[in-house]
Amino acid sequence: MEAKLIIAIDGPSGAGKSTLSKALAKQLGYINIDTGAMYRTVALLAHRKNISAQDKEGLKKLCADLIIEFKPTPEVELVIANGADVTAEIRTPEVSLLTPKVAAQPVVRDAMVLLQRKIGAAGGVVLEGRDIGTVVFPHAAVKFFLSASVEERGKRRYEELLAKGMDVDLQQTIADVEARDVADSEREHAPLIQAGDAVVINSTDLSIQGVLDEMLLAVGNAK
Ligand code: C5P
Repeated sequence: MEAKLIIAIDGPSGAGKSTLSKALAKQLGYINIDTGAMYRTVALLAHRKNISAQDKEGLKKLCADLIIEFKPTPEVELVIANGADVTAEIRTPEVSLLTPKVAAQPVVRDAMVLLQRKIGAAGGVVLEGRDIGTVVFPHAAVKFFLSASVEERGKRRYEELLAKGMDVDLQQTIADVEARDVADSEREHAPLIQAGDAVVINSTDLSIQGVLDEMLLAVGNAK
C-alpha cells in the first residue's frame, strides 16, 4: 500500500498556500487542512463574545468549547464553528487583522496544535499554516515554504477580496499584508520561520501549475 504522508505548507499570507494546498491534496487524494481558518474562527468568535486578545482565561474557555469542522462542497470548503457556517465572516479584513493577535496567545496555539495533530496523525494530509513544519509536525515527510514579494501577495489578496464584492483599496491591502507579516514573524510563540529542511518556493513569477509541478516532484521523491 502506498504511504500516506504528512505534508506541511508554511509561508506568509498571500503566498498562495491555500490554492496550492487544496490543489496538492486533490491531486494526491489527501485531506486539506487550512489551519489559518482555525485561528480565524477563534478570532471571530472572540470578537463576537467581546473577549479581548489579552484575555487568556476567556480565550482558553472559548477554545475548550469550540468544535471546528471542515465540510467540502463542490464550490468551497465550508468552515463550521459549533454548528454554524462562518466561512465568509472569517475572511473579512477586520478578522484578518485581529487573528494574529489572538493567534499569538499560547493558550490558543496549544489548543489548535492539539487539534491539528489529532486530525493529521494518520497521514494522508496536507496542512497549511505558519508553524506546521516547525512545531505541529516537525517530522512531516515533506515541508514546503512558499513565499512571494509583499506587493505580489498584497495584489493577490486585493483581487481575492474584490472578487468577493468587498470594498477594498490596493495600497491598504498591501499595508495590511505587511502588518500581518510583522505580527506573525515577530511573535514570541511559534513565529513564522522557515524550517531548515523545507523546500523553498518563491511564487512571485510562477503560475499555480508551475508551483504545483515543483511540489509534486518533491512529494514523489519522498515516497
Ligand atoms: O493563513 P491565513 O492568512 O488564513 O492565517 C490567518 C492568521 O492565522 C495568520 O495571519 C496567523 O496570525 C494565524 N496563523 C497562525 N498559525 C498557523 C496558521 C495561521 O498563527 N498555523
